[in-house]
Amino acid sequence: MVEIKVLLELQDLDIGLERFRQERRELPAELNELESEFEAIGGQLEAKKAELKALKVEIRDSENQVNQFDESQNKYKQQLLTVKTNREYSALLTEIEGVKREKEELEELIIRKMTAVEAAEAAVKECKARAREIEGRLKEKRGELSGKLKELDGQIGMREKKHSKLAADVPAGVMKLYRRIMGSKISRAVVNARNGSCGGCFAHIPLQKVADIRIGAQVYTCDHCGRILYYDDSESN
Ligand SMILES: [Zn+2]
Repeated sequence: MVEIKVLLELQDLDIGLERFRQERRELPAELNELESEFEAIGGQLEAKKAELKALKVEIRDSENQVNQFDESQNKYKQQLLTVKTNREYSALLTEIEGVKREKEELEELIIRKMTAVEAAEAAVKECKARAREIEGRLKEKRGELSGKLKELDGQIGMREKKHSKLAADVPAGVMKLYRRIMGSKISRAVVNARNGSCGGCFAHIPLQKVADIRIGAQVYTCDHCGRILYYDDSESN
């Protein structure tokens, strides 16, 4: 009977251990979500920065081109002063008009790109703010998790220690049986037989066997599911 008491204690410890270990395994998942969010916003930020840089280069190139158009225009205007014929004069005017049109188109393009620069700058700012916010939450979460991990490790360690201390007093054969049943994904290896049936699988147990279980001269198991049986009519469930 002493063995059964110890086995029941071991079982409580094992159930608690499994719960704590499960909790410990699931902890990093919360962090993973935030980490991938942080990564995604980092990617967005880099893309926006690259877009901004490209736009600025394009604007600079266009501005250089506008200057070249100005130079051409001035050159043509100088030439206007020296031409001799009306035909040359009107040809130059056509040239000047053409350059002017191209320059205006380019200036409109520059304005559109400047608007795009403003939008990209706003997006970069927003990404940075979002990244900072997520970083703050990550930091907070990491601190929270490491606290929880420490606590869980403490609980697990305490139970493991108690477990091995208790297990040392149980005969090796019984311990092996207990471990085999617990290892088969059954939540409880040691069950009450007080109703004349196995507390695990509810299979009927003959009266004589129930009597033997009550005496507890040895460890009895359920013929149907193999769980270890004990008898306690003071348990409420
Ligand atoms: Zn059973």
